[in-house]
Amino acid sequence: MYKLIDGKVISKQIKDELKEKVAGLKAEGVEICLAVIQVGNDPASSVYVGNKKKACEYIGIGSLSYELPEETTEEELLALIEKLNSDDKVNGILVQLPLPKHIDEDKVIKTISPKKDVDGFHPMSVGALSIGQPGFVSCTPAGVIQLIKRSGIEIEGKECVVLGRSNIVGKPMSMLLLRENGTVTVCHSRTRNLKEVCRRADILVVAIGKPEMIDASYIKEGATVIDVGIHRDENNKLCGDVDFESAKEVAGAITPVPGGVGPMTIAMLMSNCVESININ
Ligand code: NDP
Repeated sequence: MYKLIDGKVISKQIKDELKEKVAGLKAEGVEICLAVIQVGNDPASSVYVGNKKKACEYIGIGSLSYELPEETTEEELLALIEKLNSDDKVNGILVQLPLPKHIDEDKVIKTISPKKDVDGFHPMSVGALSIGQPGFVSCTPAGVIQLIKRSGIEIEGKECVVLGRSNIVGKPMSMLLLRENGTVTVCHSRTRNLKEVCRRADILVVAIGKPEMIDASYIKEGATVIDVGIHRDENNKLCGDVDFESAKEVAGAITPVPGGVGPMTIAMLMSNCVESININ
């Protein structure tokens, strides 16, 4: 019988803890403010930005919203970021990705001050994570660690397999599991004997962007399975990279999609905003 790892419950727990912390900070006269920038009006981005603003409101974090037109130039966007970098009232800067094609995302990410990089994408933040120094951690992998720990699952000494090596999920995920003293293997599209490697895992984190590819045959009996993937199937229903119905027959604990990793990303963004007062 598997345990369902409920991201809705755990993310609510985290948001409530943050809300209390923020109220305490306010009582001491400390206000936290996140600047959210969206360029263009991609509908999915608008939903994400709206959810981030709602979360700020719930926790008591102030938010500044910049909705810029699609034809905004790279120079204009970089100038706004520079302005926010030097604004003492702004603790965190979030630029919603993806950006329109004429804007260089890497340049934008590098322009955000590492002290305000609440998405954790700046090379300085990534470097700090890899050498164990304080800095912002990418929200989705940070959320995965919280899901595992708050479900009472120990990471130390465990065989952890991360499926995917992207800069925003797979790589930081592997660094975080290593920081928690897991024994970490990272797999990607050139990995040989993928099934065998996955079947070694006590903790399997799947972030490959392939709908329902990982079924029970990739999973060791009793393993913890964390599904980072998000897709819509042919009936417009959300699904992950893991075939949940098959995987739950062998997994010891597993996240659903939706309601697993998804809600954690915003909770950890909020956590990074609160944490920013220690990084500034
Ligand atoms: P990317 O496409 O950037 O990376 C996918 C990774 O998986 C790559 O490293 C790739 O290998 C590897 N891969 C692809 N196919 C295979 C395969 N058949 N076998 C082994 N490895 C494979 O994806 P992201 O990391 O950005 O996202 C992964 C998933 O997570 C997506 O479904 C995305 O929507 C979701 N996501 C969810 C978030 C959330 O908040 N829940 C946040 C971010 C992402 P290689 O490097 O060799 O090409």
